[in-house]
Amino acid sequence: MRLRAIFFDLDETLLDTSGCRPPAVEASFRVAARAYPWLEFEAWRRASEEVKAEMHDLWLNSPNSGAELLREGSYRILKKLGIDDRELAAQASQAYYQTWVSHLKLFSEVPEVLAALRGQYRLGIISNGPSDLQRYKLKLFDLEREFDPIVISGEIGVAKPDQKIFRYALERAGVSPEEALYVGDSPVYDIVGAKGAGMMMAWVNRAKTPLENLDPGPDYTMNDLRELLEIESRKAQK
Ligand SMILES: [Mg+2]
Repeated sequence: MRLRAIFFDLDETLLDTSGCRPPAVEASFRVAARAYPWLEFEAWRRASEEVKAEMHDLWLNSPNSGAELLREGSYRILKKLGIDDRELAAQASQAYYQTWVSHLKLFSEVPEVLAALRGQYRLGIISNGPSDLQRYKLKLFDLEREFDPIVISGEIGVAKPDQKIFRYALERAGVSPEEALYVGDSPVYDIVGAKGAGMMMAWVNRAKTPLENLDPGPDYTMNDLRELLEIESRKAQK
């Protein structure tokens, strides 16, 4: 069957967030340490990791905005360090987010790949995260006009790997699962989700990590998105 639509994951597929967190944690610490000079960075960093793990599920499809979740996160970090201060949490989370975003990068091949695919295929986004943050990231790199539909878990209350979010996106694009390819980096959210929904799946494995036992696994494994430009010839070989 002819491929008609390509859907993308956002974080770590189109956007490189790998350099964002360490400087952001440091920036939020500096704000907190101005108010409480006895705070130690290592304790702050550790508390940040704990809070990140605690709040993991909330980030997937919470109706709360990302701004609210970040404020709550900073509040919990402060709380772990014996400080109950919502005002400071708001300031620390703002510093965190501004710094985080300033280190966000588009993977270098993305503009050329999208330019080549545009017009040939319907292009869409299926992303887990809060609406405000995911939309802001798309705007930052002028990506909103590239994709239709843009489906974000925080907006519909269902997150990957639930098949419902994939089916919703397919319906919005007016294509069947067999006519659609999903491109993503996460074995759990992207491969399991897209294959469960009956789509073709291209796994972007930039770090060249071995894939654990997944059945079904991805249809294609790629080192970067440029390999999408050969997708029709690779499809024909299968
Ligand atoms: Mg991802």
